[in-house]
Amino acid sequence: MIASKIAGMLKEKDNIAIVSHVMADGDSIGSMLALYNALKKMNKNVSALTGDKLPKVYSFLPGFQDIRNCDSLRDKNYDLLIVLDCGSLDRIGLCSSIKAGMIINIDHHITNSNFGDLNLVDAKASSTGEIVYQIIKLMGVDISKDEAVCLYTAILTDTGCFKYSNTTLATHQIAGDLITYGFDFGKIHDMVYSNYEYDCLKLLGKALSSLQLYEGGRIALMELLYDDFKGINLEDISTSEFIDYARDIGTVEEAAFIKETSLGEFKVSFRSKRIVDVRAICEKYGGGGHIRAAGCTITGDLKYVRDTVINEMKKALKDEMV
Ligand code: 5GP
Ligand code: MN
Repeated sequence: MIASKIAGMLKEKDNIAIVSHVMADGDSIGSMLALYNALKKMNKNVSALTGDKLPKVYSFLPGFQDIRNCDSLRDKNYDLLIVLDCGSLDRIGLCSSIKAGMIINIDHHITNSNFGDLNLVDAKASSTGEIVYQIIKLMGVDISKDEAVCLYTAILTDTGCFKYSNTTLATHQIAGDLITYGFDFGKIHDMVYSNYEYDCLKLLGKALSSLQLYEGGRIALMELLYDDFKGINLEDISTSEFIDYARDIGTVEEAAFIKETSLGEFKVSFRSKRIVDVRAICEKYGGGGHIRAAGCTITGDLKYVRDTVINEMKKALKDEMV
């Protein structure tokens, strides 16, 4: 079994780098730090790396201060490069310069391109955190509160507090087991979800006022454009939950959030409730993700991007209705 093989490699090798994806989220940071803390306890020479800025909201996670920018480790040669929560290798951004004897790909995106020398891709897992939990167990390391906090946060954030359709019995069982390690899970919820920056709410206000409905209210579109970010310190702000407001409108099946990340470049997040496969839309534009949550980047002028997104959503809805 591939998970046991990976656990064996982690036990055997000494120089190990772990990377998360760009625009890191709770799952990528949480699963990276859980594995980092577990390997540290085994006295491994392990680095937790990023090629990007990290959202400060996760700074409470044990090991967060140890995460280093991969730029500083360009010349180092690792035995293993563990890539977490990335559907494709380009998701690690600047960390692609890291040299390693072997790449191990651990992920839960159905679109995963199996880019590793070893690939553990479980699209049924709610989060990469769930898979890393299994691997740590297979390594035979005693999970401590530190790893438990990281894994719980990974699972919590990728399931939207255990409410998205990716949440399973196994998800709850793993979360329940993690809670037995004795951390205050209510406090984690507060630190992640009741910890807004004022600027974040101002930005949310702008996103909400952009909301438009189509197809009799079954499609929702939300936008944040370059000018909306003026005067706002983006470093501490995560906008990844904004799209939930669009999706959670009662009549909506399919929602998109267009965010202008630099002039003429738009990150588009898609969500669906029950019917539409939004991953299929994103794959057409070089992105990916899950059936009910996916993303891609589209370049061009705003009108082109907006028309493309609306037309793709309308088409996907029609195709599914047939
Ligand atoms: P979000 O919309 O929150 O950025 O992402 C939703 C899901 O789609 C996440 O699981 C994320 O990893 C995936 N995703 C978002 N953007 C991209 C992308 O550009 N490429 C790929 N392969 N996956 C993406
Ligand atoms: Mn994930």
